[in-house]
Amino acid sequence: MRIIEHIYIDGRLVAPHGRELFDLHNPATGEVIGQVRLGDVEDVNAAVAAAKRALPRMARTSKHERLEMLQALHGAMRAHVEELREAVLEEYGAPVSRSTWMADYAADAFLAAARTLTDYPLEREIGTARVVMEPVGVVGLITPWNSNAGFICNKLAYAIAAGCTAVIKPSEMSATQTEVVLRALHEAGLPAGVYNVVNGRGADVGAAITVHTDVAKISFTGSTAVGKAIVRASAESLKRVTLELGGKSPTIILDDADPDAVIPGIIEAGFMNSGQACVAGTRVLVSETRRAGFEARLKAAIETRVKVGDPRDPSTTIGPMVSRPQWERVQRYIRLGLEEGARLLTGSEGQPEGLGGYFVRPTVFTDVRNDMRIAREEIFGPVLAILAYRDEDDAVAIANDTTYGLSAYVFGDQVRAERIAARLESGRVVINGAAHEPLAPFGGMKQSGLGRENGAFGLDAYLEPKTLLGARPA
Ligand code: NAD
Repeated sequence: MRIIEHIYIDGRLVAPHGRELFDLHNPATGEVIGQVRLGDVEDVNAAVAAAKRALPRMARTSKHERLEMLQALHGAMRAHVEELREAVLEEYGAPVSRSTWMADYAADAFLAAARTLTDYPLEREIGTARVVMEPVGVVGLITPWNSNAGFICNKLAYAIAAGCTAVIKPSEMSATQTEVVLRALHEAGLPAGVYNVVNGRGADVGAAITVHTDVAKISFTGSTAVGKAIVRASAESLKRVTLELGGKSPTIILDDADPDAVIPGIIEAGFMNSGQACVAGTRVLVSETRRAGFEARLKAAIETRVKVGDPRDPSTTIGPMVSRPQWERVQRYIRLGLEEGARLLTGSEGQPEGLGGYFVRPTVFTDVRNDMRIAREEIFGPVLAILAYRDEDDAVAIANDTTYGLSAYVFGDQVRAERIAARLESGRVVINGAAHEPLAPFGGMKQSGLGRENGAFGLDAYLEPKTLLGARPA
C-alpha cells in the first residue's frame, strides 16, 4: 500500500510536521489504496513563511518572466497527463473520458492563464494617473475533491500570472492526484517558495491558512457552508476572498424544443462528473403541457443510454461517488424526495445490481415542487428533479427562486432562449449545449460565490491597483 509522506515547502518535498495518516480509497471498489500523512498548523506556518520570502522577487518579475514560468508549468504538467489521468481514475473514479478531460484541463490551465496575461495591461494611464496592477501578495488556494488537480493548476496559474506566491491546500481526499501534480510541477524549476502545498484537513490546515496574517487572499472552491466559514474567519485580517461554491442549476426546456434532440444535452448537464459537479443542471424545468411526453423519453433515454459502472470501461457514463459519506448523503436525499411526496420516474435508493463500491442509481424525481428540499439543496450526485412550469414567466420565476446562481441551461429556439438567458440570475447561462469557454469569467451569483475566476476577470482578483499621481508617463 502506498503512503504519501511528503508535502511541498520552499521548493522541496518534505515530511510534514503533522503525524496523522488518512486513508485513501478506490471508490469503485471501496478498498483502501493508500494513506497520506496530513500536515498541521506548523506546516502551514512554514509554507506561508516560504511563500512570504519568495514574494518580493516574484512580485518584481516581468510579464515575460511570468509567461516563461507558465509555459514551463504547462510543459511539466503535459508530460504527466497520463499519470494524472490514471490517478483521477483510481482515486476519484471519474469515467475514462472525464478523467482524460480532467487531466488535460489541469495542464491547459497554464496556457489559458498565459493567454490572459499576454493581453492584460499591467499598467494603464487613467486621466493624469498611472495605475500599476500589483500582486495582492501570498495567496491561499483551497480545492475540493471533485476536480482537485484542475483547481490546483487553474488557481496557481492565475496566481503566478499576477506575480503572487501561493500556499495550496488540496482536498485531503485527493492526495494521489496532488502527489502527481506536485512532482510534475517541481520539474518546471520555479524559484523555491513560489508555491507550496500542504495536505491536511480543512478544519486545521484550511482554517490556519484562512486566519494567517501573512496571507492576503484566499481563493476557495468548495461547499457554500465552508465558503461562509472562510469569509467569517478571514474578516479579521480583511483578506481578499474569491469563492466558487455550490449550485442548484436550472435546465429550462422551452416548449418548442425537440425532446429527442435535447435529451442528450439535459442528461449531460445533469449527470456530468457523475453528478458531482457544482454546475450540474439538476432542476429540469419543462412546460406542463409537454411534461408527460418529455418524461417518458427522458426515462427511456436514461434507462437505455446511461451506464453506471467501472470507470475504466469506455462505455461508462457515471462512475462511483467519491466516498462512502458522499454515497450516504445521496441516499438520504433519495429517501427525502420520497418522504416529501415527489414521484420516482427512474432510479431509487441502493446500489445498481452487481456493483460494489460507492455507486448510485441514476435517479429522477418528478412532481417536484420548488419548495421541496430536493429542489433547493445541492445533492451532488446523479439525482435530478423535474419541475413543471406554466409559461415563460413562470419558468424564469422558478429558475430564479433559489439561493444559488452558478449556472443555468436553456434548450429551445435560439431567440427565445437568449431572451430567457437575459432574465436568469446566474453567473453563466449555457444555450443549447454550447461548449465551455476557458477565458470567460466563471463564478456564481447569490450564494454560489464571490468574485470570478478565469480570464481577465479572474486575473483581476489576484491584483491590487496602485494609483501613481505625478509620475512620468510610462
Ligand atoms: P468542502 O467545502 O467540504 O471542502 C473544500 C475544501 O475546503 C477541502 O479542501 C476541505 O478540506 C477544505 N475545508 C473544509 N473546511 C474548511 C475550513 N473550515 N476552512 C478552510 N478550508 C476548509 O467541499 P467538497 O466536499 O470538497 O466539494 C464539494 C463542494 O464543492 C460542493 O458543494 C460543490 O458545489 C463545490 N464546488 C464548487 C465549484 C465551483 O467552481 N463553484 C467547483 C467544484 C466544487
